[in-house]
Amino acid sequence: MGLYHDRGVVLRTYKLGEADRIVVFLTRGHGKVRAVAKGVRKTKSRFGGRLEPTSHVDLLFYEGRGDLDIVSQAESVDHFRPLRDDLDRLGRAIAMLEAADQLSMEREVNARLYEMLVGALRTLAHQDAPMVVPGFLLKALALEGFRPQVESCVVCESEGPLVSWAMEEGGLRCTTHRLGPALTAEAVVVLQDMLGGRLAAALNEHRGPVVSEVDHLVVRAFEHHVERRLRSVSALHRT
Ligand SMILES: [Zn+2]
Repeated sequence: MGLYHDRGVVLRTYKLGEADRIVVFLTRGHGKVRAVAKGVRKTKSRFGGRLEPTSHVDLLFYEGRGDLDIVSQAESVDHFRPLRDDLDRLGRAIAMLEAADQLSMEREVNARLYEMLVGALRTLAHQDAPMVVPGFLLKALALEGFRPQVESCVVCESEGPLVSWAMEEGGLRCTTHRLGPALTAEAVVVLQDMLGGRLAAALNEHRGPVVSEVDHLVVRAFEHHVERRLRSVSALHRT
């Protein structure tokens, strides 16, 4: 059996047998990896608490025969302690882990998604900024090639005012071509900041109702994209 080293974030875990767990990682060099952590549920496990969702770890794997490898060693890179100690922040971190899980494929390298996830977890651990999750989802969509058009109307290219988000067409629409859920002018500015390289401004400058407005819209756009992708994948398998 071959050994390999990588670095990854624990996306989720599930129980296996009496004392083991299957751990799903998003790694830098091997994409999504599913591996067995033997004895991890024993109180004196050599892995300690290092293989919990959000953990960022240096890993040594044994290659398994099927699609399951075996975790041989795990050393902590980041604890992200503030995420574990705050249920609200942990919930939001887990939303990002789930999104990364949905977008990543087993054994398909996606170093950029890995880096974006680590960056977003680090930001959320250092500051309780409400826009971290929508910012991550939006940038993850853009990485997939589904960057919503937020600078001008998807129909006429007019710069505004932009008043609604047409999910099917992947972008905003002006007053004349209004279609899809409405959005406020402030939400438009936030989306433009997030996708225009001004994520820090989006994270720090906006508070109040616009936060949940943007969060809601971005989650909806993300779900729309994932559903469409699942449909196209299953259509592919039928042919
Ligand atoms: Zn228009």
